[in-house]
Amino acid sequence: MSARVIDGKLVAAAVRGEVAGAVEVILAAGQRAPGLATIIVGDDPASAVYVANKHKACEEVGFVGFHNELSASASAEEISEVIARLNADAAVDGILLQLPLPGHLDAGSLTGEIAPEKDVDGLTPTSAGLLALGRPGMRPCTPLGVVELLDREGVDLGGLHVVIVGRSALVGKPLASLLLERNATVTICHSHTRDLAAVCLEADVLVAAVGVPKLISGDWVKPGATVIDVGINRVDGGLVGDVDYEAAAERACCITPVPGGVGPMTIAMLLRNTLGAYGGAS
Ligand code: NDP
Repeated sequence: MSARVIDGKLVAAAVRGEVAGAVEVILAAGQRAPGLATIIVGDDPASAVYVANKHKACEEVGFVGFHNELSASASAEEISEVIARLNADAAVDGILLQLPLPGHLDAGSLTGEIAPEKDVDGLTPTSAGLLALGRPGMRPCTPLGVVELLDREGVDLGGLHVVIVGRSALVGKPLASLLLERNATVTICHSHTRDLAAVCLEADVLVAAVGVPKLISGDWVKPGATVIDVGINRVDGGLVGDVDYEAAAERACCITPVPGGVGPMTIAMLLRNTLGAYGGAS
């Protein structure tokens, strides 16, 4: 058996098209375009590429981008000032503080200064708390992207056993909360989990968000399971996921590739969150 490939590029393009359509309606009504502000601190090349990609995606759907660049030696006070200014700016609907920050800065505390209604990354303590409580709020983009892929693949999550490998605040934990809201039975695994292979084998839907290349081998996949690989690992100049793709595809019913699976969904969901945060008016 060879699994059906879940094409994240295709789904992400569809989401972006929907957002672009909504922006056209907003502009036709004479209102201002939604605005997304990014803050980048220092000159980490990977972060620069991520932020550039986010701005390009913004432009393509008709958003206004506001780019804020600070030097690697910027103080917490300087960054706080930028966040406060953007919080107060009516043309800015979403604020994104690109992580990681240089070592002398406390990312958690600075992220927490973003106004909850503009927290389009869904990573502030307020947003995390609202999600944990099952109350409306901004949701993190990568977990949202995973759920969107499953939805568009027609996976009815109610009652399914989803095993998530990885418990980060960025992916594993918020994804578990989103899946509980959808009535899945959720197991979260981590580096202390005993007999990880046996737990993975019980999964109707297996999600890997670990950061270890090809950790999940093919014989950990229950025949007919859906496999979602969040991992992005640079190996020998190429990108691989946390799942041994070829072997897993022999047993899964459908599977996301790396690259081209979950990756493109993260920016698409950022655009959708920004549209959702849009306050309107001119
Ligand atoms: P973190 O490093 O924050 O978390 C990794 C998790 O994996 C931890 O919970 C850790 O357990 C667990 N883990 C590590 N090794 C093992 C192991 N051998 N067995 C079982 N569990 C293990 O990573 P992130 O959640 O931020 O990212 C995970 C992956 O997803 C990375 O490859 C990252 O690049 C990718 N990613 C992709 C995104 C996308 O857009 N597609 C967005 C975000 C991340 P413990 O808690 O016990 O340490």
